[in-house]
Amino acid sequence: MLSNTKSFIPSLMKIAILSIGNELLSGKTMNTNANWLGNSLTKIGCRVDKQVVVPDKEKPIINALNFLINDKEGCIIVTGGLGPTDDDITREVLFKFVKTESKFDSDYWNKLSKKFKNLGIDIPESNRSQALVPQNGDVIDNSIGSARGFIFKINGAVIFSLPGVPSEMKAMTNATIIPWLKERVSMAFFSQTIRTTGIPESKLIELISSPIRTEHGCEIGYYPSLFGVDIRISSNKIKYMESLQDELTTILGNAVFALGNDSIEEIVVKNAIENDISLSIAESCTGGLIGHRITQISGSSKIFNGSVVVYSNSSKVNLLGVSENCINKHGAVSEQTAKEMAEKVRKIFSSKLGLSITGIAGPDGGSKEKPIGLTYIGLSTKNETKVRKFQFGSFRKSNKARASQAALNWMRLEISNV
Ligand code: ATP
Ligand code: MG
Repeated sequence: MLSNTKSFIPSLMKIAILSIGNELLSGKTMNTNANWLGNSLTKIGCRVDKQVVVPDKEKPIINALNFLINDKEGCIIVTGGLGPTDDDITREVLFKFVKTESKFDSDYWNKLSKKFKNLGIDIPESNRSQALVPQNGDVIDNSIGSARGFIFKINGAVIFSLPGVPSEMKAMTNATIIPWLKERVSMAFFSQTIRTTGIPESKLIELISSPIRTEHGCEIGYYPSLFGVDIRISSNKIKYMESLQDELTTILGNAVFALGNDSIEEIVVKNAIENDISLSIAESCTGGLIGHRITQISGSSKIFNGSVVVYSNSSKVNLLGVSENCINKHGAVSEQTAKEMAEKVRKIFSSKLGLSITGIAGPDGGSKEKPIGLTYIGLSTKNETKVRKFQFGSFRKSNKARASQAALNWMRLEISNV
């Protein structure tokens, strides 16, 4: 059984995110706030039930709030429109919605004026709106910017209002909303993410169909991406979660590369350090992506000797020493070239493990014998050099991502056997 990184997190609560901003609707700004909130709240065991996006206009904001409250959302997180400019109307609309008078907070105004003065700026009058606080409602401090947030209670719901600036919204959520939610949701809730790679989603579901069809007492979510499929299981009983986790990891075996959040490159680096395996890579179609992913991980210098991007035939010959004859006879994308590349890069860098990758990323360059997406990965150790053939799809970007993932996955599997 793999080591367990189970986490204790509070139970589900119905939460809605209300994003305010014309720029979100026009497509000028991506709604990364809603994305980040969804992720952060799911991680602590809350369920985001709805996302609503409205323009900086009174009527749509009021309509959205009424809709969410009528639909019994327990917690509504509003972002955007708390700045000092004319288009920032959230504060005014919320005060109206919860029917509260406002007070002018002169202490805060003085503090803000001083802050501006220190920056050598006379505070604009328009900033006065940021010193307005509700008679009925609380204020959320903003340690980074000038727009403070608010908390209102109305008709059984709690409304949090935060600025739209992502860094401020995140800091205030972490400081206020997350602790607030953790305190209030009482029932124990356990969850685990089983990270898999190398098995397509449909095949994976087929493999685990028997345990997931039986009564297991868990919620299951599948999150497929170019890099594999994450399975998230959660339950309010730890024994249910652990039992399903054990069943699934046993069936999926080597396809499971992590329990929790670790990426495959983190696992490769960790395992290589533990087993004292040095690595070097010769990349063609991935253009350095594998080296980039490995060097994203701190500590990788302990095991990563280096990589070369040998994109042209001549660089494969002149830099790596692949024989011209091999390329002429079999082609740059071939089992034989991948084999030579892996051997040479292992020797040049004096590594225990040398990896090579050569493929046709597309969209041009394919043929009947060698279609777009055809990729060879070579792995060389002092005992042997093996090559595997992969057939990816027809999109360049996803081919590069999938090829780098397949290479890292093979390294992961090999490291324990070197
Ligand atoms: P400010 O004091 O900067 O005016 P604000 O609370 O009024 O803050 P907005 O004016 O709505 O916030 O947005 C400020 C900045 O944050 C803009 O650059 C905007 O594009 C960005 N932003 C707003 N909402 C979001 C969101 N949901 N996701 C990502 N960025 C956002
Ligand atoms: Mg603004």
